[in-house]
Amino acid sequence: MHNIPLSQHDISEAEKQAVLDVLAGGRLALGPKLPEFEQKLAAVAGTKYAVALNSGTSALHLIVKALGIKAGDEVITTPFSFVASANCILYEGATPVFADIDPVTLNIDVTKIEEKITPETKAILAVDVFSRPADWEQLQQIAKKHKLLLIEDSAEALASTYQGKPCGSFGDAGVFAFYPNKQITTGEGGAVVTNNKEIADFCRSAANQGRKIEDGKWLEHVRLGYNYRISEMNCALGIAQLSRLSELLAKKAAVANRYQQLLKDVPGITLPADCANGTMSWFVYVILLPKILAGQKRDQIIKQMGERGIACSNYFYPIHLQPFYKEQFGYKEGDFPVAEDVGSRALALPFFNNLTQEQAAIVVENLKELLAQ
Ligand SMILES: *Cc1c(COP(=O)(O)O)cnc(C)c1O
Repeated sequence: MHNIPLSQHDISEAEKQAVLDVLAGGRLALGPKLPEFEQKLAAVAGTKYAVALNSGTSALHLIVKALGIKAGDEVITTPFSFVASANCILYEGATPVFADIDPVTLNIDVTKIEEKITPETKAILAVDVFSRPADWEQLQQIAKKHKLLLIEDSAEALASTYQGKPCGSFGDAGVFAFYPNKQITTGEGGAVVTNNKEIADFCRSAANQGRKIEDGKWLEHVRLGYNYRISEMNCALGIAQLSRLSELLAKKAAVANRYQQLLKDVPGITLPADCANGTMSWFVYVILLPKILAGQKRDQIIKQMGERGIACSNYFYPIHLQPFYKEQFGYKEGDFPVAEDVGSRALALPFFNNLTQEQAAIVVENLKELLAQ
């Protein structure tokens, strides 16, 4: 029985010390680590502003709100993502309208967007899924042509690039997330990145109970606010992780390359495609099984790998087929065939910075055995 998890964080002594230093000091919240973390995030995104928050989901919600998206509005987005990228639209009473994905990049298919535009469409929310940049040139053109706002969910793509520019920087605002399986972690955390001062100021205020950004009184609230703040301990952890960013990314790329080598001759499976117009910072390693192993057969393989002590997963079950979405909107199988096909064949292998060459070999050997049976 092996013991190989799906994901595992990579925390060094420097990170531990950074958190202890905060605990030993005078401020646990709203102290100096927050602006320092934000400046470093803005530098990674190549944006003027970053607003660090308690989660990526909070960041998505505040962007939707900052852009004035409200009940009656429609936002075009991808069904092949983590559920938060559609839920954030529902939080403000607007409607997510899905467009199917490209079978190779697994990102929203830009040729299927314009047919979804109605007089109610306000924005496009595209995701850099599995750290692969979406087709931002096309997305920006479509948004411009139809006067739509553009949101970049880059929660899985910190430090990925598209045409030489960092992911997170392509929409009116973008999102990063720092849950333990992401490129860097703060435990829980997220951020809004943007070049738009009004959006940044709005998010900063709304995240802090609707207080004024400058010279506001602590108990004066100028708008409906939330507590989406991130603590100093989380920010210190994030700063220490960012200072190791190139090391963290190199480790991820090495694990991905190892899998690529070990899997390249396995018949029937599809490996992650080369990144055509950018670079990937590697969030997960997802292969596609052949069609004859879709659905329940794929789930059986996940179960059998689990029984051998190797944790695999089915990233992603399409959003429109989630029980809540089916019930609320009446979606059914067949509505977004590419997302459904990919979702039924996707197999995420154990993927984390310190996965050893030996462990990668064990994963692949066991997978080959199960595929051959
Ligand atoms: C992780 C993730 C989020 C949400 O981040 P949390 O910090 O967990 O709230 C949003 N969108 C995508 C695509 C994600 O992968």
